[in-house]
Amino acid sequence: MNHHLRRRLAESITALERGDISVLSAFDSPSLSHIIGLTGSPGVGKSCLTSAIVTELRARGRTVAVIAIDPSSPTTGGSLLGDRLRMGKHRSDAAVYIRSIASRGHLGGASSSTPLVLSLLERAGFDTILVETVGVGQSETEIRHLADTMVWMTAPGLGDDIQAAKAGVLEVADVLVVNKSDLQGADETAEQLRSALHQAPAVGVGQWQPEVVCTSAVDESGVSEFLDVLDRHLAAEGADARRALREKRFGQVVVELSLDQLRERILTAAKPDGRPLVECIVNRLARGEMELGDAVAHVVEAVTR
Ligand code: GDP
Repeated sequence: MNHHLRRRLAESITALERGDISVLSAFDSPSLSHIIGLTGSPGVGKSCLTSAIVTELRARGRTVAVIAIDPSSPTTGGSLLGDRLRMGKHRSDAAVYIRSIASRGHLGGASSSTPLVLSLLERAGFDTILVETVGVGQSETEIRHLADTMVWMTAPGLGDDIQAAKAGVLEVADVLVVNKSDLQGADETAEQLRSALHQAPAVGVGQWQPEVVCTSAVDESGVSEFLDVLDRHLAAEGADARRALREKRFGQVVVELSLDQLRERILTAAKPDGRPLVECIVNRLARGEMELGDAVAHVVEAVTR
């Protein structure tokens, strides 16, 4: 990837964050990327392991994009994860693109531009897209619906994490990673997770049973095995399920965007004193609190009176 493409990507992502999807059509690779969601508590080693995985992916000849979802507000400028990643040794590698994005986008307020950014990077032809997010709150839930493979990470000695895993993570993670396996207690943590998985009802896609892998981002042990597991999961998931995931993801985005554009048009058409009412109706429609038919009737009334 040359400097020119890198700049086009950066500009396109900024445009997407503004809600301008026209930039998508400038990229047209038909191949699907392996989209991997990576989540876990702060400090378990997500950034370090991401860097190690990127090294391994590059050794296997794959291009890779890393998206760090920053849960802080857009105004703080995405400093939490992305900047640390950007500092790394991959900075000068032309086949690696790294970017952090704020989890709060501009589309309809609470929604995020993440699905659009993933579509863009996929259309730009990246073999692998890693989406890294702190394991708290909304952005994590969102990624689960966007990724082919969902990875949850922990490290030895985090009892809270194991409890959290039992409470729900096991139902959504395809691969569980115990990082910092160079430290004591990694094997025990892995065993606890395996036995929790054993007790949990099978929820995997098709024949897939979630797997536990031990890695160390420090001595890079287990990283190659981890990547083998990711590849196996991708193969198990199948192309049909992955295409369906993409259609659903894009469908949601289009609904959100058209509501945004609809809002703009109606507001332009409405007389000044009718605009607050129109705004309110479209917001309720977007939140699913109002039927489309009712909304249209109210809007017509507000625009014409
Ligand atoms: P994140 O918050 O999950 O992204 O975690 P970081 O990647 O920033 O790592 C947090 C801390 O754990 C840093 O001080 C790392 O050097 C350290 N760390 C990360 N991976 C490992 C590992 O495999 N072994 C050990 N011993 N330390 C690690």
